[in-house]
Amino acid sequence: MNKRNLITGGAGFLGYHLTEKLLSMGEEVICIDNFYTGSKKNVYQWLSNPNYEIIRHDVIEPIYLEVDNIWHLACPASPISYQSNPIKTSKTTFLGTYNLLDLANKVNAKFFMASTSEVYGDPEIKPQPESYRGNVNPIGIRSCYDEGKRMSESLCFDYYRMHEVDIRVARIFNAYGPYMSENDGRVVCNFIVQALRGDEITIYGNGSQTRSFCFVDDLINGFVSLMESNFTGPVNLGNPSEFTINELSDIIRDKINKNIKVKYKPLPEDDPIQRIPDIKLAKDKLGWEPKVKLNEGLDLTIDYFKKIMK
Ligand code: NAD
Ligand code: UDP
Repeated sequence: MNKRNLITGGAGFLGYHLTEKLLSMGEEVICIDNFYTGSKKNVYQWLSNPNYEIIRHDVIEPIYLEVDNIWHLACPASPISYQSNPIKTSKTTFLGTYNLLDLANKVNAKFFMASTSEVYGDPEIKPQPESYRGNVNPIGIRSCYDEGKRMSESLCFDYYRMHEVDIRVARIFNAYGPYMSENDGRVVCNFIVQALRGDEITIYGNGSQTRSFCFVDDLINGFVSLMESNFTGPVNLGNPSEFTINELSDIIRDKINKNIKVKYKPLPEDDPIQRIPDIKLAKDKLGWEPKVKLNEGLDLTIDYFKKIMK
């Protein structure tokens, strides 16, 4: 029998791609979303699919649905979005995760948690293995998200220990690809959208901070491998190739328009200086590693933005 999957945050960037993947596997999908950062445009095409349903719902309120798998993605992911109402972000990460874990316990569903590399804060070591406990400012402007996701992980493991909920915790490192929102604010789409509009590219700080960018198709394959495995995690899912923000800007300018100017702006408080995943655990436990190189993934993402910005 087809599995019934609940995706919270199913109208967002990763939710779109996970929906596409699960429907293509012949499974059923119920999406719940409050459209805080997600878009109805991302779900229109599924509405006529008999295996798809959508419910407008805020995860800070409880919900009861008979499902086999819960993929808990609901939470704004871009710093500008999660910082615009930080108390709401804390409620989403705590109450939202609590409500969905409680549901998983009641209906005996498998529970996937979309956690983040932000649990490592501004890391002092690189690459970051899962055993690293992080360097998080508990009272800074990123703490609603960083501490919120740490709390989400804590809840997952307490539901696992107390109620044997079948959890899977993924720590996601900077993903990118088509179906990110044009005004999402994260670096890859910001740079692409700025360059396509002919605007200056905004680099925060001196651009020497690093990130590792994972193309969304690789990431979604990692989600499915983790859910199908018998490993609780936490496990890092990301691409281990590290780039400075200056390098990213140069690559995108080369692809779109070399003449676009760069404008340097102040580095936001607590912006991590380096981030690169150690993916040994994902390789060992899931046989997973990313395949799409940044060059190739950027071409696909630029093509998407060219189409929607016409
Ligand atoms: P996104 O902002 O595109 O999608 C988040 C979705 O959650 C949106 O559709 C939004 O409307 C919905 N949402 C937010 N708060 C909600 C609430 N209270 N109730 C119901 N729906 C709500 O972000 P994304 O990139 O798709 O990220 C999805 C998940 O993955 C998030 O939990 C994020 O923390 C995690 N994550 C993503 C990345 C990444 O690089 N994309 C990295 C680390 C972690
Ligand atoms: N950044 C930037 N210009 C932008 C957007 C982001 O220089 O227009 C920088 C940001 O300061 C950070 C990095 O790019 O150092 C990644 O930012 P993003 O918001 O994508 O995600 P983060 O990894 O910080 O959560």
